[in-house]
Amino acid sequence: MDNPLLHDASLPAFSAIRPEHVEPAVREVLDENRRALARLLASGATGWNGIVEPIERMQHRLARTWSPVGHLNGVANSDELRTSYNACLPLLTAYHTELAQNPELCAAYQQVKDTQYAQLEPAQRKLLDNALRDFRLSGVALEPQRKQRFRELMERLATAQAKFDENVLDATNAWTRGVDDEAELAGLPAAVVARARAEAASNGRDGWLFTLDAPNYQAVLTHAESRGLRQEFYTAWTTRASEQGAAQWDNSALIEELLALRHEAAQLVGFGNFAEYSLATKMARDPAEVLQFLRRLARLCRPAALRELAELEAFAGSRLEAWDVGFHSERLKHERLAVSEEELRPYFPLPRVLQGLFAVAQRLYGIRIEARTGIDVYHPDVAYYDILDADGARRGGFFLDLYARPKKRGGAWMDECVGRIRLDSASALPVAYLVCNFTPPSGERPSLLTHHEVLTLFHEFGHGLHHMLTRVDFPSVAGINGVPWDAVELPSQFMENFAWREEVLPLISGHIESGESLPLDTLRKLQATRSFQAGMQSVRQLEFALLDFRLHAEFTPQRGSRLAATMAEVREEVAVVRAPPFNRFAHSFQHIFSGGYAAGYYSYKWAEVLSADAFGAFEESGVFDAATARRFLGSILERGGGRDALEAFVEFRGRQPELEPLLRQLGLAA
Ligand SMILES: [Zn+2]
Repeated sequence: MDNPLLHDASLPAFSAIRPEHVEPAVREVLDENRRALARLLASGATGWNGIVEPIERMQHRLARTWSPVGHLNGVANSDELRTSYNACLPLLTAYHTELAQNPELCAAYQQVKDTQYAQLEPAQRKLLDNALRDFRLSGVALEPQRKQRFRELMERLATAQAKFDENVLDATNAWTRGVDDEAELAGLPAAVVARARAEAASNGRDGWLFTLDAPNYQAVLTHAESRGLRQEFYTAWTTRASEQGAAQWDNSALIEELLALRHEAAQLVGFGNFAEYSLATKMARDPAEVLQFLRRLARLCRPAALRELAELEAFAGSRLEAWDVGFHSERLKHERLAVSEEELRPYFPLPRVLQGLFAVAQRLYGIRIEARTGIDVYHPDVAYYDILDADGARRGGFFLDLYARPKKRGGAWMDECVGRIRLDSASALPVAYLVCNFTPPSGERPSLLTHHEVLTLFHEFGHGLHHMLTRVDFPSVAGINGVPWDAVELPSQFMENFAWREEVLPLISGHIESGESLPLDTLRKLQATRSFQAGMQSVRQLEFALLDFRLHAEFTPQRGSRLAATMAEVREEVAVVRAPPFNRFAHSFQHIFSGGYAAGYYSYKWAEVLSADAFGAFEESGVFDAATARRFLGSILERGGGRDALEAFVEFRGRQPELEPLLRQLGLAA
């Protein structure tokens, strides 16, 4: 069978790819890679060219085969494709575990490091260091029995994490609240009420029926005038999957088990606790640095947060409980700032925003962005663009897929289509997917964005530039690959800053009828929303981050998690809004118990500090200052994961990262 996933063309043959191509292609590449690896190790090949380059090529081939599959599964889903996709996941996991736990391969990399390190260029050294670190984190060096135990722990962790998720989902789905008296709905947006009406009808009852999904929960807490209704939703939401609900969905025991499994796995591969294990792949050096960072930021944000709460209580005229804060905040915000996201849409027609975004990137980095037609795309709404250097040489490209449609996953993201590789035996330019879910155009009228959506586009484009402008030749440290989790949001959040600036506004805004750009006084109001209750929002994030980090750093098998005590201590130290004693937030904290943020939730704030500080250099020299932009390009964007993230930052900024610029951006500076 001719399999389009196995073609060696520079871009995927999307129109030819069918679900039945997926598993055979993946099996074939995995088999070929396995045979090639066996041949390689048997041949006694050594050195960078003999060992590392062939492995890079193999990984590149696998990534290229799999990338269109994963992408289509996200943006053009079907039952058949999902089945094929799911069938491949265990094959890929098994293959990656095999590689990561292969002691001969690890020894071969070690030998390259021992004999050639001094002659290699920095990106090559970084690649070797990362690879050897990852072998160690996978338990490659353990004696057979302990290696077996490590594998068991990983498998059990995967199952327990999935179960944690299921419990949250089932507990959430099991809760509903019926409303018969229309007066109880006062304040709620019409769309939310209509949805509850339809929900009731489809359940064969009169009145309204609310489920506990996030949009409903947010809407009730923000808009419902009924204090009783807000309290009920708050209670249901913050006790999900806890001992206060049905026993079969109680996550209490799973929390203990997850922390214990992670602790044991971390100790097996030589760390004191899971927090240390987590930091082995991150920019932050050690647990003390993370704790100090979070506590320092909390101390700086807390006075503002206390002030904001006092101001809010004065505005509301009473002491506020946790379920009152969102509601009164919304009213205060409306009264004070008088700016509505919805009303700004006509100023941001998508074609105009896109043109402005490209103009910003072109001006900053001396590149050209040009649409190319005749490319094989998977949907008529998808466009393809080339990125060219000033001299016209192709540097990379991207697929742009911006509109919401059925069978497409929600949210926005950047992903790798092709990674950059440049070796004697193989070469390819980087290609990205940029995906958003904006309202599609209707008739002649283009899609109109809220400012929040404009920020989303800038954010994803920032990730895209990181991937596409890389100069690194080895896929595993090119672009965003190999960049630590707590630094990977630097280029994306950095890019967002431009969409707040008055210098950039004329480029990205133009009223759909009059063509006039967003008035400056409206921009000022918009900018003020950025710092509205920034103190309270910051301490809330810091509370989650500190709880996550301390749970993973302080766990011992003798003492267990000390969940309730740690939560109480963290709240005492950081929080300003008083959580009621029944609050069991941790029982549905999916980021850390079932997502990838275990002992890593601090990354959000960490990257925010870096991006605000990096942008500070542009504020000092002018947002389009060519020299500053070229430095950012050369030190950060082009270097990908090929160098230490802190060194890269220091090279660009000329000093260590500082908190001040973020505090200034949020209006929290002293
Ligand atoms: Zn991002």
